[in-house]
Amino acid sequence: MKVLVINCGSSSLKYQLIDSETEKPLASGLCERIGIDGRLVHKPIAKGLDKVTIEAEMKTHETAIKMVLDALTHKEHGVIENLDEIKAVGHRVVHGGEKFASSVIISEEVIEAIESCNELAPLHNPANLIGIRACQAALPNVPMVAVFDTAFHQTMPEKAFLYGLPLEYYEKYKIRRYGFHGTSHSFVSQELAKAAGLDIKNSKLIVCHLGNGSSISAVLNGKSIDTSMGFTPLAGVLMGTRSGDIDPAIIEYIMKKEQKDIDATMKLLNKDSGVYGLSRNISSDFRDLDQAYREGNKAADNAVQTFCYQVAKYVGAYVAALNGVDAIAFTAGVGENDGRVRELVMAQLSYLGITIDKEANKTRGEEKMISTKDSKIKVYIIPTNEELAIARETVELI
Ligand code: ADP
Repeated sequence: MKVLVINCGSSSLKYQLIDSETEKPLASGLCERIGIDGRLVHKPIAKGLDKVTIEAEMKTHETAIKMVLDALTHKEHGVIENLDEIKAVGHRVVHGGEKFASSVIISEEVIEAIESCNELAPLHNPANLIGIRACQAALPNVPMVAVFDTAFHQTMPEKAFLYGLPLEYYEKYKIRRYGFHGTSHSFVSQELAKAAGLDIKNSKLIVCHLGNGSSISAVLNGKSIDTSMGFTPLAGVLMGTRSGDIDPAIIEYIMKKEQKDIDATMKLLNKDSGVYGLSRNISSDFRDLDQAYREGNKAADNAVQTFCYQVAKYVGAYVAALNGVDAIAFTAGVGENDGRVRELVMAQLSYLGITIDKEANKTRGEEKMISTKDSKIKVYIIPTNEELAIARETVELI
């Protein structure tokens, strides 16, 4: 079955058309600058052709979707004959609040329920909904599924998701830990169990999703029991540009010292902090930081060392949360590609009986065991594939 996977942002829209039998993408692409001018980059993977760039006015997401569908059915760079071949659409939705603990078939009631979570993700959910509406208009008879970033973590127990605030703030405003990257943590934990020869129903796994945004999760018997991101994706380890966990009183202190208002302070924590800020603005990209470190830059090394230390501390915390661990996965841009980051994290965990296979750790972007055969805990690189995970969920539901 051919499934269209849509990830819609406020001015961009990413897509993949996936064949659910082979689990391979037939085409992928990205619409950018929607509402500004408009550019579609389309990659006809099934035809083995180079990507094509189509510049055309994209006033609305409806126009963007229409251009995507035209590209998919185009005579030269299309990969399907006609739109009837698309049997389902899977939409990534960032926040499902406490309403969605799993993916759902989209109905009017579901759309209303997603709308009611808008307050929790004011930048993302409204954009996701625009994408859903635009697809419904273009493909009125095709079933659609919403797959939530937060859903996988809805199995967290209260003791993991409550903050030490007056309980009425949870009751009135739903302030609690939600966690994000759920599709990735779910997909990677399943693949990790398979790779390590474990029965997921009887396993203790830790997934380190380290990308531009990073989060760690503790997965017990296939269910998330804790994760490092919180009420928003700002929490947990420091990231590309996000601060991660800080003493909340720092916010007031910065506001007074720098005479910043709350918006400017939040921007500082979201956009100017993390490894970017800590490296004196060298970069948020770990490739640049690695190069700077190799050229002797102390601040770049500090930033990466701090990141790895925080990741290792979360892994340690989750060994406690799980009361043990069978296997650990590294995934996403940094986790799949940056051998030095993995080595620094693993070196901090030798007390668990983890030993690194330095040769295997040179691997990039493919599944690989990177602990030695006699390591007490198995450690793997497991490439994440959120689009495939969304396609799988979509097929399962329809
Ligand atoms: P996002 O959170 O945006 O989905 P990704 O998971 O794609 O991010 O990760 C992007 C990050 O991965 C980049 O910012 C970069 O730091 C890192 N990265 C990508 N390739 C490499 C590489 N070869 N070596 C080290 N880091 C890499």
